[in-house]
Amino acid sequence: MDTCIFCEIVARRAPASIVAEDDWCLAFLDIRPVTRGHTLVIPKTHAALLSELEPALGGRMFQMAQRIAQALRTLAQQDQGFSCEAVNLMLADGAAAGQEVGHVHLHILPRYRGDGFGFHFGRKAAPGRSELDDLASELRAAL
Ligand code: 5GP
Ligand code: ZN
Repeated sequence: MDTCIFCEIVARRAPASIVAEDDWCLAFLDIRPVTRGHTLVIPKTHAALLSELEPALGGRMFQMAQRIAQALRTLAQQDQGFSCEAVNLMLADGAAAGQEVGHVHLHILPRYRGDGFGFHFGRKAAPGRSELDDLASELRAAL
């Protein structure tokens, strides 16, 4: 495997502004933030994709993300210069989904009115119920 920048951060061989750490996960500020306070939560053990991540570790990541989301809101109450009215969690699993760093990471994005960020969902027309039921059935079989 090529050197993984996020594993380097876990090993403290690369710099990072760390927000939180426990036995399983590390959270640090994104170097190219979408909004101020944009934080990444990663598992300490390398997994490139969700399919390689131990499921319990996904739970640990989400728990840390919940704490950080709350801390972002708390900081916005304490510091008038910091904005966080709401939070988006985002995870890109695979290059076609926009994943650029091949080590699973959960984005925590502080949001506020006028922040200039937004998701473009480009929704299709609503399928009929039978089409939805057929697809749900196929997915259940794939679980
Ligand atoms: P992705 O597009 O893979 O979902 O997001 C990767 C994120 O990692 C980007 O937001 C990018 O700014 C961030 N990033 C890439 N390299 C580094 C790094 O060396 N340090 C930090 N703190 N963030 C990084
Ligand atoms: Zn890694």
